[in-house]
Amino acid sequence: MFISDLHLQAARPEIGEQLIEFLKKEALGADALFILGDLFETWIGDDDPDPYHATIQTALGSVVKTGTPVFFMHGNRDFMIGKKFSVETGVQLLPDPFVLGLYGKDVLLSHGDAYCTDDVEYQAVRSMTRDPQWQAMMLQKSLAERRAFADQSRADSEAHGETIDAEISDVNVAAIEEAMRTHNVRLMVHGHTHRPAVHAQTVNGMSAKRIVLGDWHEHGSVLRWDQRGPQLRTLLRS
Ligand code: MN
Repeated sequence: MFISDLHLQAARPEIGEQLIEFLKKEALGADALFILGDLFETWIGDDDPDPYHATIQTALGSVVKTGTPVFFMHGNRDFMIGKKFSVETGVQLLPDPFVLGLYGKDVLLSHGDAYCTDDVEYQAVRSMTRDPQWQAMMLQKSLAERRAFADQSRADSEAHGETIDAEISDVNVAAIEEAMRTHNVRLMVHGHTHRPAVHAQTVNGMSAKRIVLGDWHEHGSVLRWDQRGPQLRTLLRS
């Protein structure tokens, strides 16, 4: 099963409640759970003793303990999730992108923001914040300083989002098809854009499929994948 873009935060408890229900019921029976980024709205470091984050970590840890492996790939909100988080929860960190073998086929997994190449300004911020040296420098700062930086970044990104049109903030199809060619796959799953859909792509003249996961702002979104193939579903929230 695949989920992404929950943007968990204490101010929106219903999202976390829905995730915990989902973890208790559906995720337990799954072969594996893949979280493709932006699980949290902000993550300023594994050393942040945020009690809300601790609740979610406990819930993820419970799933791992039952024998369902849980994998996490960084999003653009929670790219500071590190080793301590992984050790404490048992959640395994994946690089972005990652090629997963699934029922005899290779599937390219990504958060998706790396392919929003039309948004040049965003890509510059992305390169800076994914640099290990920048991250090490950031982790030297106090939690209060990091929190202030994260709040400012969110405000900047929201303001920037309002200045660009929908096409710019979406993934660039040529960049997507190039990535699929490079990794020699005809299947891809990503999140980030909050535009759940199944897209037909062309890779080396062959038909390919790209599945975009939805966010959890109003409802949940899950991609289930078994021998019969992928199924993208909305999880209604009452
Ligand atoms: Mn994102």
